Amino acid sequence: MRVMQTNACSLSCGYCPTFCGGKVKRTALQPEEVATTFMEAHRAGLAQGLFLTSGIPGKPARAMDRMLAAVDILRRREGYGGYVHLKLLPGADSAQVEEAARLASRVSINLEGPGAAYVRRLAPEKDLSGDLLPKLEQAGRLLREARKPALTTTQFVVGPSGEKDREILGLVARLESERLLHHAHFSAFQPVVGTPMEGERATPAVRELRLYQAEHLLRQYGFRFEELPFDPDGNLPLDDDPKTAWALRHAEQFPLEVRAAPYELLLRVPGVGPKAALTLVRERRKCVIRGAEDLRRVGVDTARAGYFLTLRGRRLAPAPAAHQLRLFPHGQHLTQAPWRTPVPPCAFR
Ligand code: SF4
Repeated sequence: MRVMQTNACSLSCGYCPTFCGGKVKRTALQPEEVATTFMEAHRAGLAQGLFLTSGIPGKPARAMDRMLAAVDILRRREGYGGYVHLKLLPGADSAQVEEAARLASRVSINLEGPGAAYVRRLAPEKDLSGDLLPKLEQAGRLLREARKPALTTTQFVVGPSGEKDREILGLVARLESERLLHHAHFSAFQPVVGTPMEGERATPAVRELRLYQAEHLLRQYGFRFEELPFDPDGNLPLDDDPKTAWALRHAEQFPLEVRAAPYELLLRVPGVGPKAALTLVRERRKCVIRGAEDLRRVGVDTARAGYFLTLRGRRLAPAPAAHQLRLFPHGQHLTQAPWRTPVPPCAFR
């Protein structure tokens, strides 16, 4: 259950419909109301966990205290031990970060951009290096020490401040390698009518998709940041997913023989995910792989993988698959008109 405790806000984030000048009706929930409503939904089987965020009307510490009070009621009075994702507000103090890490299963704070100047362009009152990043790192250290598996998350607004994918993923890679960040979200900018950035161009949603795919390569496929296939302009190619782009630039590593390639190399084949690679390695010990049908059965996307694999020395496809862009309809609704939905990005994840 996602709750925005109040949509009143004194900040002027340029992409947000509930920024201080936004023409939206404002409302606020007391901590008691958040806790009671959630517990009713939870007991009725309608909500398994809580995601709690808030606007910032006035002092950030006061809004953060109200959020912490709601979770404290859930934990202490209601005895609720389930999932709570608590959004840290910009300007929260260190003691509040500690309290959030103690009470919540997951803590997040939106970094918005990979550098201080980018963040100022998006959200003039937010301070990346003096506030957002140190708070995320503090929360990450606390959750890591407490061995809470969900750890921290963050979100970037992609596009209008001119940042590069290389900068975003460089920061993400550093935080994830230090286990201060579990994973990152990327939000392709869409101008919202009535906001300070309503005249800016929308970011193609396919860029958001490519960032997610590249982050998965770092976190689940054993790729190092230096291996990500950035174009000379510092962004990921849009036509191919990053794994395919990397494979096409490293022809010397392919094709791989299905019957012999180690798990770590199979993971680098486009169309082979961690589960398929593991199943393939297990299955080939027990039975003979006869052809593409057997590979499909273990989860390999043979249309994408065929060019990069051989079976008994014969390549399974004569050429790489056509560009993946066709496979992802996300890439199509990219020149849409400005959004009219009055929901701020921080209310999503
Ligand atoms: S993004 Fe959050 S902090 Fe910024 S204006 Fe919107 S509600 Fe306020």
